[in-house]
Amino acid sequence: MIRVAVAGAAGRMGSTVCEAVTAAQDMELVARADPALGVSVAEALAGRPEVLVDFTLPSTAVANAREAVAAGVHAVIGTTGFDVGELAGLSGAGANVFVAPNFAIGAVLMMQFAAQAARHMSRAEIIELHHDRKLDAPSGTAARTAQLMKDASPDLGEVPIHSVRLPGLVAHQEVILGDVGQTLTIRHDSIDRHSFMPGVLLAIRRVGSLAESPVVGLERLL
Ligand code: NAP
Repeated sequence: MIRVAVAGAAGRMGSTVCEAVTAAQDMELVARADPALGVSVAEALAGRPEVLVDFTLPSTAVANAREAVAAGVHAVIGTTGFDVGELAGLSGAGANVFVAPNFAIGAVLMMQFAAQAARHMSRAEIIELHHDRKLDAPSGTAARTAQLMKDASPDLGEVPIHSVRLPGLVAHQEVILGDVGQTLTIRHDSIDRHSFMPGVLLAIRRVGSLAESPVVGLERLL
């Protein structure tokens, strides 16, 4: 059994992760940290988890990961909106860090298809659409998609990102590529937060055996 603690356990994502971990046959949920529950990350780490899953705020995710690693606990970070570069060199006491801006397999495929298409089309723009309580803009998924496209095609230039925030949405993204007389649209929709759970559970199972740390992107585990 993998002993798991969740930071942000009272939030939209964190509470769904708690349900998924509880339902997983090979995992045990040992702590739920969240201001709303009156439990700090330090208190959660005292429950001796092997993995801390973080779905909190851009302002707290890095500090939580540092605290986990210092305690010898692996960190799986789903929080977006912070500079992933801040995690550089973060490993120690046998603890690894894994971070993914999107844990949905369809979104990972969308990013890979967009990078592939970027090599063959002259321009591209991204429209990302999320629920109206999302704190960061542009989304971590959109920023990573743009980076992967630029890495694949340095001549592509800037990939503008347009952010839509409306009630009723969960997490959606369109990558539109244009060239002479044609466009190509690649779209992914997460219509339910359960779309992220297989990816989160995979990361919990794999974070302890990473060959390096930190590792960024669910595609690195597939
Ligand atoms: P949310 O509902 O606001 O949940 C965040 C929770 O974290 C809140 O309950 C918050 O409490 C709590 N929190 C704040 N500081 C904390 C700390 N230091 N320790 C423990 N808990 C703390 O947000 P959400 O919609 O679940 O999203 C959370 C993050 O996940 C966002 O960055 C979002 O972009 C990201 N996300 C990632 C993916 C992915 O696949 N990687 C998918 C969806 C969302 P308070 O309300 O009291 O501040």
